[in-house]
Amino acid sequence: MNKLEPLEFTKDLIKIPSVTPFDGGALDLLQSKLAQLGFVCKRYIFEDVDNLYARIGTAAPHICFAGHTDVVPTGDLGKWSNPPFEPVEKDGNLYGRGAADMKSAIAAFTCAVQNFLSSHKLKGSISFLITGDEEGVAINGTKKLIAQISEEGEKIDHCIVGEPTCPHILGDMIKNGRRGSINCTIKAHGKQGHVAYPDKADNPIPALLEILYKLQNHKLDDGAQGFQSSNLEIVTIDVGNPASNVIPSNASARFNIRFNTNHTGESLKNWIIETRNEVQQKYSAHIELDIVISGEPFFTAPSKFTEIVQDAAFEITKHRPLLSTSGGTSDARFIKNYCSVIEFGIVGATLHQIDEHVKVDDIYKLTQIYEKILEKYFA
Ligand SMILES: [Zn+2]
Repeated sequence: MNKLEPLEFTKDLIKIPSVTPFDGGALDLLQSKLAQLGFVCKRYIFEDVDNLYARIGTAAPHICFAGHTDVVPTGDLGKWSNPPFEPVEKDGNLYGRGAADMKSAIAAFTCAVQNFLSSHKLKGSISFLITGDEEGVAINGTKKLIAQISEEGEKIDHCIVGEPTCPHILGDMIKNGRRGSINCTIKAHGKQGHVAYPDKADNPIPALLEILYKLQNHKLDDGAQGFQSSNLEIVTIDVGNPASNVIPSNASARFNIRFNTNHTGESLKNWIIETRNEVQQKYSAHIELDIVISGEPFFTAPSKFTEIVQDAAFEITKHRPLLSTSGGTSDARFIKNYCSVIEFGIVGATLHQIDEHVKVDDIYKLTQIYEKILEKYFA
């Protein structure tokens, strides 16, 4: 096969408009390259989502590269300087949807493996765990894929998720954990009436205020290893009452909690329900809750594996990445139950934005870092 080149491969992937859950041939393209390198490839289709698992080698240790070929929608096409699915190089940058999140990392990892295999005898296994559904609801992607392959007996030891983790310069950050997230809507239902006759009405606002006050003023924790304190943020309070002489019938509010490993989604859910029950006893307005756990937290303690990634990044970029648990949730939350997982990829400053781009040079450097990781991992 012709030698794969990371910039060209990134461009080829960007040319495929794989907006979640549409694949458009992105997984086929990746699979064809991996098959040529000797990977055994298998596709897993869960409902409308296509997924790929590919492995080379049968022995341990087994390092896996995880990621996604889907991208977020383009937004207003008229605002892009160039069409988002026609990759363009300008001033040392590569523009296109998915340039940062995360087609460059997929190309870089594939090329790193190619380079590594051409100069080393593999003393373990390398695999790719790639979904076409990370940017959407993510129920038919990594979560089901890793459960399925584990059931089939696949045992992964370490995993690198290639999400764009560096905030400013390549090599500045590894994510070794993520906070969990829970969303809650509170609706208080009372009875509408005239402010001059409150005995004939039932104002839902005091009940809503009291539950919010109780939730907001409860200290969740003082942080956990690798994590800042958990945080509850009220994001909206809605009554929508235009009159000053009317007691409204309904009031609602919404909040989000980003939480560390002191909690689980379930434990926080129970705490919210208990708080509601306490407040409910004092009011006749009915307080209704709608709670959605959108992700559990995970933490990978610093280890030889995190050091390998840090050392590799330092050798190529001269920056030693910080281990961080900041930011939103990622598919690593589904992988953490099966193996030791960290996230490391390119600079994500423009991810999901109009004119998404990365430095061309960073694509090559990321390839070198991934190759260094493989060298150290199998040394
Ligand atoms: Zn992503």
